[in-house]
Amino acid sequence: MTAAIHIQGLTKAFGRVRAVDGLTLDVPTGSIFGFLGANGAGKTTTLRMIAGLARPTAGSIEVAGHSSDEGTAYRRPIGYLCQEPAFYGWMSGREVLRYAAGFHPELGSRADGEVDRLIELVGLEEAADRRCSEYSGGMRQRLGIGAALIGRPEVLLLDEPATGLDPIGRKSVLDLMESLRETTTIFYSTHILDDVQRVSDRVAVVDHGKLLLAQRTADLLTSYSQNRLRVELIGASSETALRLAAIPGVTGVTALEGNTLGQTAAAFAVTVADHSAAPVQAAITRLAYSDGMAVVEARPETLDLEEVFLRLVGNQEIAA
Ligand code: ATP
Repeated sequence: MTAAIHIQGLTKAFGRVRAVDGLTLDVPTGSIFGFLGANGAGKTTTLRMIAGLARPTAGSIEVAGHSSDEGTAYRRPIGYLCQEPAFYGWMSGREVLRYAAGFHPELGSRADGEVDRLIELVGLEEAADRRCSEYSGGMRQRLGIGAALIGRPEVLLLDEPATGLDPIGRKSVLDLMESLRETTTIFYSTHILDDVQRVSDRVAVVDHGKLLLAQRTADLLTSYSQNRLRVELIGASSETALRLAAIPGVTGVTALEGNTLGQTAAAFAVTVADHSAAPVQAAITRLAYSDGMAVVEARPETLDLEEVFLRLVGNQEIAA
């Protein structure tokens, strides 16, 4: 696995506030990597440092093999879209991209061709010659991504690209990110868990400037799901929770409110030690037999990223 972005001990202090605190992270080449955290977790500060717009207090950053100390050579493979991009409203989308292409003298006579290619890539062919003040939120974000893609950067940094968009706008931005999967590494910040689940193959969770975890999204969801069983039993008594808790490998039992069969069944969330789900399921079947109960279900819960996130970070302000 080669890392498109390699961060080691990255720290940024603003006075006594450590916005980013010893962050070590590898973003593999070709990944769509969601950088997830609540408001104020340190996402924007991290992205600005990777983009070369803010100087770290400590630590090192490499992008596409270049150290952040290298200046222009470091910034060349990077495209960056800030959190709330502003455009001159009187310009058309095409003019915005031409203007942005002006900062890439290496394009020379290829600039207009590159602008045409990007207009098509971000799906703005119909609107390219309209004033961008008339664009929807999703169109503006796609225009911003188009501008960030000028010069074909290897790494695209996007700060909250889908925040504040309506569902159609969000889908159009996520679809665009998805379409770049093969060609560009995308590292993007978000606090929208659903977006991460939909588009990111990897996710890092940050809280108060510190990294809580970095994993493949699918592995994260699976590892959490496998340690919790949803158990529903007919004929349970007041003893049943204790009987379940006594099964080897069970680390906790919680009675749940809802069950599929109303009054006649009781539902429990049973947490189990690593790799214990299968033996505990078998033991529940035996317990049900010996205690005269019927098992409606005893299966690993499917958790979504929101539940995983809330368990990791606690109940903070997060959009699902
Ligand atoms: P949001 O989702 O709200 O954009 P974030 O995760 O991007 O939040 P940052 O904007 O990186 O978080 O901020 C991290 C912390 O650093 C916050 O406590 C913020 O107040 C502080 N901070 C950020 N920039 C500055 C600055 N220029 N001066 C002082 N403190 C700052």
